[in-house]
Amino acid sequence: MVKHIFVTGGVVSSLGKGLTSAALGMILERRGLKVSLQKLDPYINVDPGTMSPYQHGEVYVTDDGAETDLDLGHYERYTHAVLTKSSNYTTGKIYSSVIAKERRGDYLGRTVQVIPHITDAIKEAIHDGAPDDVDVAITEIGGTVGDIESLPFLEAVRQFALEAPQGDCLFVHVTLLPYLRASGELKTKPTQQSVGKLREIGIQPDILVCRTEVAMTREMGQKISLFCNVRPECVIQERDVEFSIYELPVDLVDAGLDRLIAARLGLDITNATDLSDWKEMLERIRTTKQRCEIAVVGKYIQLHDAYKSIYESLDHGGIASNCEVVLRKVSAEDVHVKGTKILEGADGILVPGGFGERGLEGKIDAITYARENNIPFFGICLGMQCAVIEYARNVLGFEGAHTAEHSPHTPHPVIALMPDQENVDDMGGTMRLGAYDCTLVEGSLAHQLYGKTQISERHRHRFEFNDDYHEAFENSAMRLSGHNEGRGLVEIVEIPDHPFFMGVQFHPEFKSKPLKPHPIFAGFVAAALAHAQGNGAPKAKKESIA
Ligand code: GLN
Repeated sequence: MVKHIFVTGGVVSSLGKGLTSAALGMILERRGLKVSLQKLDPYINVDPGTMSPYQHGEVYVTDDGAETDLDLGHYERYTHAVLTKSSNYTTGKIYSSVIAKERRGDYLGRTVQVIPHITDAIKEAIHDGAPDDVDVAITEIGGTVGDIESLPFLEAVRQFALEAPQGDCLFVHVTLLPYLRASGELKTKPTQQSVGKLREIGIQPDILVCRTEVAMTREMGQKISLFCNVRPECVIQERDVEFSIYELPVDLVDAGLDRLIAARLGLDITNATDLSDWKEMLERIRTTKQRCEIAVVGKYIQLHDAYKSIYESLDHGGIASNCEVVLRKVSAEDVHVKGTKILEGADGILVPGGFGERGLEGKIDAITYARENNIPFFGICLGMQCAVIEYARNVLGFEGAHTAEHSPHTPHPVIALMPDQENVDDMGGTMRLGAYDCTLVEGSLAHQLYGKTQISERHRHRFEFNDDYHEAFENSAMRLSGHNEGRGLVEIVEIPDHPFFMGVQFHPEFKSKPLKPHPIFAGFVAAALAHAQGNGAPKAKKESIA
């Protein structure tokens, strides 16, 4: 029987519920259990694929082509759970399925209502996200308890627990203890009120994970226990991490959360938690003396979450090379307006994926700068497409070369719409999405990095390298080093006569993990480190916005 953990959030959003759920999954895995993770999001968009990064941050893509919440990235980075289309449901997705059934006549003339029809669909979704072979299914409920829009989800999980065998479900509520600097106090009232809201709905949390800046005293824990009706040993504190989000699983094990959950759910855990490899990785992050500075040239650099998986993958590359990656977040528009001097001193330049024309010329300028000055360059998706445009314009002499996405009448559409995208009108879920195979050219940099010729990577795009220009590129110093055989698509470009110059049509950042850094990120950071060593290590702080 699958046991279920429901993770809710109280007081404020952005509490790190996703990270806590992911870390929870990891520490249970380290006890020999098999876990699945799922996120339920209360907004009405069917998925976040159509949402602006300003609204939502990064859109994370699974192997099976679901466009999902970025918390799923945390789930995959911390655990071995296989995430699919069933790992993320929104209000919109639930309602669409219920309305489609109503239109088919499946409800046989009955009035269709939030209870039971929407709540039934949510319960089905929870079952779908929890394969039979897992021991524990963790379901995170997005939003904050008290929001109108999360009510059907909370009602559904209340029913779910009522219908499950006694003791098979556990409620973990992640909440905030605000610290009032003026009085030097932690406050428990918001937590009491948020638990009160949950209990009004009929959910009694079993475990409270209290986010706090400063240590919670024993008395405070007892007070929370008394007022929230949660056993004192089940009031856990989650302190802000010191230097890396990867400290969290260690902190949760130190707080005894894995033992507590196993005891409450009656799970059979005989082995002790072994986090030695993880702790060794943390020690390396904490003590490394080497540094390199990488400029990420994008449109949304002021947003914390827009390139989440890329920033984390760069850190993983740093772990592989035993070096700290100092991030310089550079606005692509600024590169075009102020010139490439704002890139000076960077040891590597990364241009991420994106949509829309704003900043495109700045990205291209940054690539010219990296190519001409032998600075390691890595382009992802739109970043790869910009590298192709840059090369076509400035090396091959195709004046006005562009992507058909933004310049439909360019004389040289080196990036063109994929034929199967031509008659696509709907925006949602219609891109080339998910995992596709790619064959690497023997002896290429890509082949060297992966150590094999057959790879699979995740995609999210409508445009591609235009095959009409295949020969022109093949006759140049740029190599087309990865192809999707079935469709004849170019997936990777590289310049061998450069310390590191690679553009990929896919999104390698979705498959990098701290203990298994993605080979391209590892190679890119290694090249940036070599550049830094040749130029004197960077003096910048951990992060800056240029
Ligand atoms: N806008 C480009 C396309 O659709 C690139 C997409 C991306 O970077 N994810 O092809």
